[in-house]
Amino acid sequence: MGSDSPRRPSTRRLAEFPLIDDLARRFGATGQAVVRGIGDDTAILRPSSRDLVLLTTDLLAEGVHFDRTTATYEDIGFKAAVANLSDIAAMGGRPRYLLVSLAIPNGHTEQDIVRLYQGMMNACRPYDVELIGGDTSSSRHGLFINVTLTGSVKPGRALTRSGARIGDLLYVTGTLGDSLAGLQLLTDKRGKAAGIGSMAQSYLVERHLRPTPRLSAGQLLAKHRLATSAIDLSDGLSGDLAHICTNSKVGAEVDMLALPLSPACLDYAEARRKNPFMLALTGGEDYELLVTVPPKNKTNVERLARSFGCRLSRIGRIQSPQRGLTVIEPDGSSHKLAITSYRHFETRSHAR
Ligand code: ADP
Ligand code: MG
Repeated sequence: MGSDSPRRPSTRRLAEFPLIDDLARRFGATGQAVVRGIGDDTAILRPSSRDLVLLTTDLLAEGVHFDRTTATYEDIGFKAAVANLSDIAAMGGRPRYLLVSLAIPNGHTEQDIVRLYQGMMNACRPYDVELIGGDTSSSRHGLFINVTLTGSVKPGRALTRSGARIGDLLYVTGTLGDSLAGLQLLTDKRGKAAGIGSMAQSYLVERHLRPTPRLSAGQLLAKHRLATSAIDLSDGLSGDLAHICTNSKVGAEVDMLALPLSPACLDYAEARRKNPFMLALTGGEDYELLVTVPPKNKTNVERLARSFGCRLSRIGRIQSPQRGLTVIEPDGSSHKLAITSYRHFETRSHAR
């Protein structure tokens, strides 16, 4: 095989250095700002502007964050990258460089790991993110994937969790609950026979396995200074909204009927006799953005949303901290919002 075409990945036992060489050849950075990518003790980057640097990292553990019986290596890699891309989106930043550390147990081949990277790079490619390094270890207990992503944002433009003010409007991108519905379809044996159209099923499963990081939405909101705070929805709306409230020292009111639901999620909820609004409120891993916007920016933000590549829905407002987190039910009654998102180290059957 020619030197510019990567060799066929081996299906035999893994060897650390041939693997790293192969990953470097296939996926390693080639951009001008990368003085040194994979292959030395550290990567070397040439700073290209005075932008602030964003850094984020996410650890995925087999059996906790992913399950190889329901996700391919490409799926796992794709989602590992999206978890980080979405964090950069939530800060209003531009993603730049990727470092990937793996602990790999026996039984995985080089081909499997190449597929994992293909998934990761497929998620990153639209945003020109470059792979500049990582680390490789064996593992005695499952596959571990740690992805670190850098990003950049103009000084003063980052969307933090701490800027929400009383009276701000609460918006969310995309639709909610799809990922949880997709996960339930994947793990539930009755999945295929449940009276849900196959198109709706594939849509929901795709939304669970291959979520979309809302980078344009985050970047546009930051650029136009329209939002006071933002967070990406990885744990679920109720839990992630609580983070904004805690960090901003405010309360919030969510209008259940305003929660954006996809037709597929509605079909799923109907077939399974579930409350679709509860899926939207509690489901994790949608990787949508939750943002707060001062009322004076309402018209501008709704106009700007046409360029987001997804819908933007107003779902509530920020209120005083004394009122806490409340939800308006479909019947108009209002009560305290229970925070039901996933927490590690607490006993529960399925993690995210
Ligand atoms: P060290 O012993 O200093 O950790 P390594 O031999 O582990 O060095 O790494 C050599 C080079 O390969 C480094 O540039 C490192 O960033 C890169 N690298 C190692 N593992 C991976 C991986 N899984 N993905 C991407 N790059 C990797
Ligand atoms: Mg190393």
